[in-house]
Amino acid sequence: MSVQDLKEDLTGNLVKALNSRRRNQDEISFVLEAFDFAFKNHIQQKRKSGEPYIVHPVAVALSLIELNCDKESVCAALLHDVVEDTGASHEDLRDIFGETVADIVDGVTKLSKLNFKSSEEEQASNFRKMLLAIAKDVRVVLVKLADRLHNMQTLNYLKKEKQQRISRETLDVFAPLANRFGLRNIQIELEDLCLKYLHSDEYSAIKDLVKSKRHEREAQIQKLKIVIKQVLDDSSIKAEIQGRAKHFFSIFAKLKQKEIQIIEDKLDEELPIYDLLGIRVLVDSVKDCYAALGVIHETFRPMPGRFKDYIALPKSNMYQSLHTTVIIPWDKRPLEVQIRTYEMHEVAEHGIAAHWHYKESHVPSSAKLGDAEELKWLKQLVSWHTDVSEAKEYYSGVKNDVLAQEVYILSPKGDVIALPQGSTPVDFAYKIHTRIGDTCTGAKVNEKMVSINYKLQNGDMVEIITNKNNHPNLSWLNFVKTHQAKYRIKSWYKKQNKERHIVLGEQMFADHFGKAKADEILKSEELLKISQKLNHKSLQDLLAAVGSGDQSLAQIEHKLNAVKAPTKEDNIEQLQKFKTRKAPAKGDMADIPELDGLLYSIAKCCMPIPGEAVIGVISKGKGITIHRADCYNVKQVEPERLMNINWKNKERKTYPAKINIEVVDRIGMVKDILTLIADGGFNIRDFKVTERPTKTTALLKVTIDIGSVEELKFLTNKMLNLSDVLQVERL
Ligand code: MN
Repeated sequence: MSVQDLKEDLTGNLVKALNSRRRNQDEISFVLEAFDFAFKNHIQQKRKSGEPYIVHPVAVALSLIELNCDKESVCAALLHDVVEDTGASHEDLRDIFGETVADIVDGVTKLSKLNFKSSEEEQASNFRKMLLAIAKDVRVVLVKLADRLHNMQTLNYLKKEKQQRISRETLDVFAPLANRFGLRNIQIELEDLCLKYLHSDEYSAIKDLVKSKRHEREAQIQKLKIVIKQVLDDSSIKAEIQGRAKHFFSIFAKLKQKEIQIIEDKLDEELPIYDLLGIRVLVDSVKDCYAALGVIHETFRPMPGRFKDYIALPKSNMYQSLHTTVIIPWDKRPLEVQIRTYEMHEVAEHGIAAHWHYKESHVPSSAKLGDAEELKWLKQLVSWHTDVSEAKEYYSGVKNDVLAQEVYILSPKGDVIALPQGSTPVDFAYKIHTRIGDTCTGAKVNEKMVSINYKLQNGDMVEIITNKNNHPNLSWLNFVKTHQAKYRIKSWYKKQNKERHIVLGEQMFADHFGKAKADEILKSEELLKISQKLNHKSLQDLLAAVGSGDQSLAQIEHKLNAVKAPTKEDNIEQLQKFKTRKAPAKGDMADIPELDGLLYSIAKCCMPIPGEAVIGVISKGKGITIHRADCYNVKQVEPERLMNINWKNKERKTYPAKINIEVVDRIGMVKDILTLIADGGFNIRDFKVTERPTKTTALLKVTIDIGSVEELKFLTNKMLNLSDVLQVERL
C-alpha cells in the first residue's frame, strides 16, 4: 500500500468512528490534525509485525472513540508515542494541541517508562509514580490501558520471553487497574489475552469447550430469555434481556478456585453449561430493578446467600447492579442474573470513561473530574506520604488497597465504606478516623459483638466500640489489611516512643557531659546548628535520635569541638553578625525597597547577605524578619505570612577580584581577616582555605567585589597591617 493510500485509509477509519459517535466537525478536525502530526512523525517507523507504526496509535485512538472519550483523550492517544519515539517535544505538542493534550501524553510516556518487574523498591516507587500520573489527569489511564490493549492484541509478533513478561505485568498491574477504573471491556480482553500467553494449554481447552457448547448455550439463553421476558411483561415491567457469555479468564479462575484440573477431555463433565453463561436484565429505572428482582425470585427459587445489592452499595469503581443466583426449574442448575438500568450498564461497561462522558455534557470543565467523589480514593492514596524509605511498605499496602477485591461495609449512620477483602473492624475504625482506630476496643457487627480480627463481609453493619484510655496494640499488625491501619498503628508507637526517647536522650546528655555542661549545650545555638547539619528537624528530634540510639553522642561532641575551628559558614555568619551589629537596622533598610519605612530584622537562623535570594516573614509585634529564600524555617511558615522582597541593586559598580592571603594559621585568624574586609564595606563572594604550604601557615583564597584599584590597594595595606598576615597577592 502506498503512503498516500495508507493515510487515506486510516483517516477514513477515524472519521467513520467519530461520525458514528456523532462528534462535531470541530472535534473531527482537531483529531485529524493530531493524526497528521503523528503520521508525519512515525512515517519512518515499523512495528514488529512489519506494519507501519502509525497503525498502533490509530488503533489506540479508535479504542478511545469507542469508549466515547473526549477529543483531548483521542488526540493524546494518536500522539502518545511521538515524544518517546520521534523528534517531537513536549513543547511542540503544547504549542500545537494545547497544554491538556501535551500533559496527557506526558503522563502516558512516564507510565511507559515504569518497570513493574524490577526490584521491589523500584516497583514500589514506580507504582506510586503511576498513581501520581493518573491522579494528575485520569485520562492518562484511559490512553495507557488502550495502548496496552493494542500491544496485547499484537503480542504474537514478539519473542516468547517478552510475551510472557508483558502478559505477567498486564495481569498483575493493568487488568486490575482497568477493573479499578471500571473499564470492564478492556479488563476482560486483557485477561483473556494474558491467559492465552501465560497458560496456553488451559486457554485452548476452555476455548474449544466454549466453542463446542455454543449451540447448546445459545438455545438455553433463548429459552431463558422467553421465560423471563414473559413474567416481566405480565408484571408490566419493561425490560431487555441479554444472554451473557463468561469470558475465558473468569472460567479459568473459577476452575482453579475449585481445584479442577483443566484438561481438554475432562472439562466437558466438570463444566456445566450454566457456568458458561449468565442473564442480564436491563430496565429503565432503579425502582424497576427491584421490581424485576421480586418477579424473578417469585418465578425461580433464589439460592440463599447469593443476592448482592450493588445498587445500594456501589463498588468503588462505580459499578451498580443487583446480582442474584436462581435455580433453573427444568434441570435444577444455578443461573446467575444481573439486573441494572441502562445508565448503570453504560458505567458497568465503560467505567470512568462513561462517567467522564456524562459529566462532560453537564460540566464543561474536564478538570472537575479530579474532584469527583469516585476518584477521592486516588487523591487520598497519592497524598499519603512521600517518604522514600517507606516506599516498599507503601507499595505492598497500597497495591493491595487499590487492586484487591473489595467488601462494602455500612457504618451505623448508613455510610458505605469500601475496604479490601479480608479487612477487620480495626481497618474500618482507622478508615473512619485515626482517633477511632487508636482507641478501638471492640466491635459489633450486625448488632452482635465480634472479635476485632473478625473478617468483614459484604454489607456488614459495623459499630466500633472505643475507650479513650485505650491505645493501639502492635499485635493488630498481624491481622489488619489496609495500609492506612498499618501506618497509623506504627505511627502511634513511633510517637509514644519519641516522647520516651527524648527523656532518655536528655539523660544521656547529662551522663556524657555532666549535668551543668549538658544544660548549657542544650541551650546553645551551636547545638541547634549541629542538629540541622545532622538532618534533625528540631532539637527534640535530635534528643529522640540520641535516646533511641540512632544518633551517637560522640559525633555530636566531635562537631561541637569542630565549631571552634572556623569553617567557611561560621566565618560568614560571624561576619554577618558583626555587620548587623555594627550597622544600624535603619541604615540597611534602604537595601530593600519593599520594606522602606517598615520595622524589620535579619533572621538569626540563616543570616542572609545582600545579593542572596531572600523572603520576608511577617510576625506579630516583631515586624518583618528577612530570611534566605531556602531557609529551613521559612518552609514551616504559612504562606499568608510570607512577603516577596528583593535587595536593592547597589548603585556602586564593582567587579570581583581574587586575592590570595597567606597567614599564620591560628584560630580566629580567618575571622579577623573577614571582619576587616567587611569593615571596609566590601562584599565577599567566595572564600576558601585552600592549602597549607607549611604546617604553620594557611592560604586564604578570597573573592571580593571591588570598586577600583585604589580600593584594592587600601584593603591590601590594611590587611598587611595585621601582624599575622604574611603576604597579600592579587591574582
Ligand atoms: Mn504505544
